[in-house]
Amino acid sequence: MAHERFDPIIGVSGSPGQMGLEHGRQLRARIHRTAALMRERIGPQAYEASWEALRPTVEYCHAAAPEMMAEIQGICRGAEVPFSDIFRINAHLDLTNWRRLVWDADTAGNAEACSSHAVVTSSDVLLGWNGDDWPGWLGCGAIVRGRPEGGPPFIYWSLAGSVGRPGLGPHLALGANSLPSPRWQPEGLLYPILCRKLLACRNVGDALSLFEDYERCSAMNYLLAGASGDLVNVESTPDAHAVIQPVDQGADGYLLHTNSYLAASLGGLGIQDCGCPRLAAARRLYQQGPPTDVPGVRAIQSDHSGGVCVHQPEARTIVSFVARVRAGEIHITRGNPCSCPAQSLRLDT
Ligand SMILES: [Zn+2]
Repeated sequence: MAHERFDPIIGVSGSPGQMGLEHGRQLRARIHRTAALMRERIGPQAYEASWEALRPTVEYCHAAAPEMMAEIQGICRGAEVPFSDIFRINAHLDLTNWRRLVWDADTAGNAEACSSHAVVTSSDVLLGWNGDDWPGWLGCGAIVRGRPEGGPPFIYWSLAGSVGRPGLGPHLALGANSLPSPRWQPEGLLYPILCRKLLACRNVGDALSLFEDYERCSAMNYLLAGASGDLVNVESTPDAHAVIQPVDQGADGYLLHTNSYLAASLGGLGIQDCGCPRLAAARRLYQQGPPTDVPGVRAIQSDHSGGVCVHQPEARTIVSFVARVRAGEIHITRGNPCSCPAQSLRLDT
């Protein structure tokens, strides 16, 4: 809760059902709190109505990712929370978009925040992510380190009860930034499920192919940093996606993103003209000299000149991490990186 210094770290291993069960048991109280807050944030009436709207999403995810759905069912058993509530924790992004675009019929863009940066240094590939959201979610976050039976290990941060979000896999790290969704479609893979599939990829090329393989319900930018030094943004909508590389940002060896479309094919204005002060500040700092180590990335994540580090009443940086992809190491902060300490974790321990 408010007095906590760090988010809890849990370890899960084995089959999808076993991993989910361990997740649910270890984070039971936090999952109950997250489910209650989700209902309150969406509004009780809209929350009830959303379950019918999400039925095609449940069907799509069962067909496209049965192992992830088994993990979600394991979380339900471990936390003793109904499937419909755990699924809607995983559908946080989609519930928010559904509430705005369908329930409220409001087509104006949403104003979620987050910043992702990636840079290739002489010895490693670094990815920094600030997750900015409603401060009430402080007290609901958790770090999950997994060792799936027959699959690659992973570490991610998310709301308790969620099967994925940005984090680190053996071959790449992932950041994510919400984008205004032009529409919401019920048939698609939930954002946490797509994140987990991305974290398991062997390289950025394989990760890109997932955007051909699966539909998405909502828009989102995924920033991928591969151990080989490949860096890409994938701006995705329910209908299309566009790939942005460092050269498209006039940069050599680094890549930045916040919450504006940059790709011309999706109506973006490019990094120079997108108008996001957080992106402009990060770009200016990178142009002065790209960071070469974890403290260097953290300094940019802590920037207040353009507000990369968010301190607003309704939005705050609630999680911040820097991943060292080749070293298999991630440093995760609960809250604002300018003032809160980091916990360091390794994939192989
Ligand atoms: Zn700050």
